[in-house]
Amino acid sequence: MKVEAVRGMTDILPEEALLWQYVEAEIREAVAIYGYREIRTPIVERAELFARGVGEATDIVHKEMYVFPDKKGQMLALRPEATASVVRAYIEHGLHARGGVAKLYYLGPMFRYEKPQKGRKRQFHQYGVEAIGSLDPALDAEVIDLAWYIMERLGLRREGLFLRLNSIGCPEDRPRYREALREYFLPHRERLCPDCQRRLVENPLRILDCKVPTCQEIARDAPRSIDYLCEECRAHFEGLLQYLDALELAYEMDPKLVRGLDYYTRTVFELASRDLGAQDALLGGGRYDGLVEVLGGPPTPGVGFAGGLERLILVLGERDVSHRCYHIIAGPRVYLLPVGKAEVAEALRILATLRRAGIPSDMDYAGRSLRKRLQAAARCGARYALFLGEEELSRSEVKTRDLSTGEEEYVPVGELVDYLKRRI
Ligand SMILES: [Zn+2]
Ligand SMILES: [Zn+2]
Repeated sequence: MKVEAVRGMTDILPEEALLWQYVEAEIREAVAIYGYREIRTPIVERAELFARGVGEATDIVHKEMYVFPDKKGQMLALRPEATASVVRAYIEHGLHARGGVAKLYYLGPMFRYEKPQKGRKRQFHQYGVEAIGSLDPALDAEVIDLAWYIMERLGLRREGLFLRLNSIGCPEDRPRYREALREYFLPHRERLCPDCQRRLVENPLRILDCKVPTCQEIARDAPRSIDYLCEECRAHFEGLLQYLDALELAYEMDPKLVRGLDYYTRTVFELASRDLGAQDALLGGGRYDGLVEVLGGPPTPGVGFAGGLERLILVLGERDVSHRCYHIIAGPRVYLLPVGKAEVAEALRILATLRRAGIPSDMDYAGRSLRKRLQAAARCGARYALFLGEEELSRSEVKTRDLSTGEEEYVPVGELVDYLKRRI
């Protein structure tokens, strides 16, 4: 019986993995330039971490999280996102005691039991940054600037992207705003979708990001959170806008932007593509000034964002970026062709020497004819074929063939590394 991959969990094959490697390398370099250092947290965490951190009632935890007991009955979860994990590690290892701002980034697989579709998988990949330890709106501005910088490095034009921005205030502002929303939506109650009728009671903020057209239409004139900010939150937001102006980063105010996770406070933002249609966000983030405390640490503010790699790859895949993957080793550049069995040992020895000199090289192990092997050499993108015949080897030479021109030369074995390095 054939065993297939689990639904929504995808294999990334070698040709496509090249693009992934390129994108990952660009992201790692971009965030490092901004002073962020990598943190690798486990894929499996205690389920309660996300229930407390992300929010019990959110779709992510309530509907989409993979939860299972281990052999001792402890409830575990495959991480549906990484901010809660990073903050847990921040507290657990006392990173707050080091003072200053902890600037951390991550990149890896996340898991959500959603309906699989284009650009959305059950195992998907996110990269993200977390800057923990400052309330300064300049840090929000830096994080947003970094988001732009990553896109620029990947060659996505500024005109094709836009920044959605909002401030949802602090927990002190929330009850007044929630009340205003309830008052506004109550007369429309009957027309709201069943989910939103429930949200009206539990958390009317979530009605704002409902995707049902009627709900969206009703929500169009809903009260805006920025009109319900306390003085400090207002000053913070104005500070951020001033810094974004200084950085010449354009934004579009979006009062509907509330993001589907409970931990956000004050700044929320999304960087979106104009070419993507309804699901257009390439990354999203904001402040989470209460999260460290909720997870058992000292009161510590933080800000960050997360972006999906699948969607980014989808956008980049539609353009040809292969020329930008040139520095990634895509396959052998040199292909060895021992003419008979007797030459195999010498071929292995030469291969080992070329490889240790950093020349990507390979040979055939499938026992095919010389003609077939030569075809294989061309197919894998090699630039040179090296023929190892009894006669050449008796003179300590090999015959090289430039596969693009057909030009052939005899080269002493001892000079091969220099010869090839000059040419590929
Ligand atoms: Zn406030
Ligand atoms: Zn709705």
